[in-house]
Amino acid sequence: MAPSATAGITERVDVFWHEGMLNHDAGKGVFDTGVDPGFLEVLEQHPENAERVKNMVSILKRGPISPYISWHLGRPAQVPELLSFHTQEYINELVEADRVGGKKICDGTFLNPGSWDAALLAAGTTLSAMKHILDGHGKLAYALVRPPGHHAQPTQADGYCFLNNAGLAVQLAMDSGCRKVVVIDIDVHYGNGTAEGFYRTDKVLTISLHMNHGSWGPSHPQNGSVDELGEGDGFGYNLNIPLPNGTGDDGYECAMNELVVPAVNKFLPDMIVLVVGLDSSSLDPNGRLCLTRVGYRNIGHIARSLADVHSIGRLLIVQEGGYQITYSALCLHAVLEGVLSLPEPLLLEDVVSYPEDKALAVKVVESIKKYHTEKVPFLKDA
Ligand SMILES: [Zn+2]
Repeated sequence: MAPSATAGITERVDVFWHEGMLNHDAGKGVFDTGVDPGFLEVLEQHPENAERVKNMVSILKRGPISPYISWHLGRPAQVPELLSFHTQEYINELVEADRVGGKKICDGTFLNPGSWDAALLAAGTTLSAMKHILDGHGKLAYALVRPPGHHAQPTQADGYCFLNNAGLAVQLAMDSGCRKVVVIDIDVHYGNGTAEGFYRTDKVLTISLHMNHGSWGPSHPQNGSVDELGEGDGFGYNLNIPLPNGTGDDGYECAMNELVVPAVNKFLPDMIVLVVGLDSSSLDPNGRLCLTRVGYRNIGHIARSLADVHSIGRLLIVQEGGYQITYSALCLHAVLEGVLSLPEPLLLEDVVSYPEDKALAVKVVESIKKYHTEKVPFLKDA
């Protein structure tokens, strides 16, 4: 790299990645079903495919943000490491599924030959990224991983996820001396797995902004509704922000500023984990919340600002969904620009847009805020 390309760059994002994660192949079919109905000539790849992540890797290597990126090799998790979040019985099920050559674990979630090794790499790579921060080697780290993890519950795979990569990293932070960790999940789907893992503790605040999709069956019994607030000591420490279709950049900004920032400011975390799904974008086949790169950039910047205030700038970013092969990569670029607090966008602004419904989004955010301030003790009068 020419010296001029890095002139003036004082910050970097440490990206953790391992190409072995490309070996997970969830198959083909109609959308994510794995089913060939017999009447379609062209079956599509499962949405959670290697191509989507190849473009994410590529844009960070070759896009204008590349001088700000430092690359680190990921590694597989060891089975005992998984037991901080998952049960032995559940892990045994996955190991057995791998041993017999793979199987459909639940709707849309296929463990095929190569999948288990990829899942171990995703978990281990996320743990490495968190450890890098905990050891003081960097403050901004991004785990570029697949298969995704935030739907994986302690005893249940769900929604393309086997192991909860972010949840394992949060637990590592807690086990390494962090007092309180906040997880801000902006994937378009409810981060039910992470919520479930920390549902009964007041030491981990899980916040999820998502489409109001509700439960989708036995593997995802949670609704993601505002009244799922946590239990026992954890009551009030799971904040769900179900957003209306068409929420868009301004609606998300409202939700971040009105709900997420005040909650984090009251919670006082010493570690922040931003769980990033690029399926909240305006072009994603799996989502309808219509963020553009402007919105993603803004959210990245808000998360960074919270880290500067609360966690001495320490921010772990974990990759989740995002299924539009081009736009996911562009939106990832925007998130990291925001996290780096770059003054101007490095890529040209969007040529795509979708109508936003800011008025409705603001109304919904206000009603969730009223609900939180009535029901959540630590947010009273927030
Ligand atoms: Zn998702």
